[in-house]
Amino acid sequence: MKTKKFILPENQLPTAWYNLIADMPNAPRPYLNPHTHQPTTVSDLSVLLAEELARQELSTERYIEIPEEVQQIYRIWRPAPLVRAVGLERALDTPAKIFFKNEGVSPVGSHKPNSAVPQAYYNAKQGVRRLTTETGAGQWGSALSFAGNLFGLDVEVFMVRVSYDQKPYRRLMMHTWGAECYASPTTLTASGRAARMADPHTPGSLGLAISEAVERALEDPEGTRYCLGSVMNHVLLHQTITGEEAILQMQMADAEPDVVIGCIGGGSNFGGIAFPFLRKNFCEGKKIRVVAVEPESCPKLTRGSFQYDIGDVSGYTPLIPMYTLGHDFQPSAIHAGGLRYHGAGAIISQLLHEGAIEATAIPQTETMKAGVLFARTEGIIPAPESTHAIAAAIREALQAKIEGREKTILFNLSGHGTIDLYAYEQHLGGHLQDYVPSDEEIARTVQQLERII
Ligand SMILES: *Cc1c(COP(=O)(O)O)cnc(C)c1O
Repeated sequence: MKTKKFILPENQLPTAWYNLIADMPNAPRPYLNPHTHQPTTVSDLSVLLAEELARQELSTERYIEIPEEVQQIYRIWRPAPLVRAVGLERALDTPAKIFFKNEGVSPVGSHKPNSAVPQAYYNAKQGVRRLTTETGAGQWGSALSFAGNLFGLDVEVFMVRVSYDQKPYRRLMMHTWGAECYASPTTLTASGRAARMADPHTPGSLGLAISEAVERALEDPEGTRYCLGSVMNHVLLHQTITGEEAILQMQMADAEPDVVIGCIGGGSNFGGIAFPFLRKNFCEGKKIRVVAVEPESCPKLTRGSFQYDIGDVSGYTPLIPMYTLGHDFQPSAIHAGGLRYHGAGAIISQLLHEGAIEATAIPQTETMKAGVLFARTEGIIPAPESTHAIAAAIREALQAKIEGREKTILFNLSGHGTIDLYAYEQHLGGHLQDYVPSDEEIARTVQQLERII
């Protein structure tokens, strides 16, 4: 009988996050202050973020200790299992071994609390009383609600109105954990009031929700800070707990991956599993392939431009050197809402630029088909985002079959899809279509960007 799950005992939970910048041959270019174009400082960032998170954002230390309080909360669901996808292997009739890290076992159902918990912790430690954030599909908002509650913080989530109306379950999770979840635009902020005045029936937008969350944080510099769920270095840093666990668990399985795969929105679950394996490439001379998978409809890594852009749609983050489609790029309404982001974090962009990682874009009908096959062979219904990683793993496994050689594949299952069954309904009903943006469409939003060398 093959071992199915590799369970790391709690007392072997890694105690430090890994900062890949310390080992990269070339660090990314610095963040720039959007007004002065000077390199961003900790004090620039501390206006919005807890000071320790601002320090982590710019840190070059190789390891950062995970505070004991955070380790204690991680233990609610961590170490997360490493699973051998025996059923999927059999269905594909492949000589490849397929492993996945199951981040869907968290209370929120995805990897996002790996960063929400330390973000809440450092804010509480600094004496902050309230956190604000925005959420599109609701995954990040629910993670921050879960985490903030555990540290006695008030959490306010500005959820894009259309999602608020269409996705009641994430909102109900936030309420259950005691957070306020508002349909954005609200009447609580000047930006929200202006938007409602202009159009009382506005569906809202992510940019507007960010503006509201930031405005709330800035009007209370003593007691309120804003939190981000992806893209920024400190978020990716926290997510490396996944890859650090996976390294120990692959040892238990007596295996080493030839290829490591993750889906990419802003890059946090991908960076989380990939960076500790890239350390092996940079420091031990290994040649593990690392593949980021994006939707064909939002192809920032495969078709974007490598240049400075703002990390959010509203310009509150620094200018970040990134692969971007332009922050005004409007991806089609695909079901993997978490992957609709216009750019990738600075470290991931630099790695791709230098050829240290690969990127691939997959159409959504192929990813949803992969998700259904995974559900029928492994039991778990994957998040629509995660089906991109599964589809790429399947491509790798089928290639190994054609070549008739063994291969070990590891991917990050960033979350389960039990709250996203609408996507499966659409897929099973044959209503999903693929969409590939034209070159002109991409050029339009990229050309709007300021050119900064
Ligand atoms: C948010 C989310 C993503 C995309 O975000 P990253 O920061 O790129 O990881 C992927 N999968 C799931 C399940 C998510 O909730």
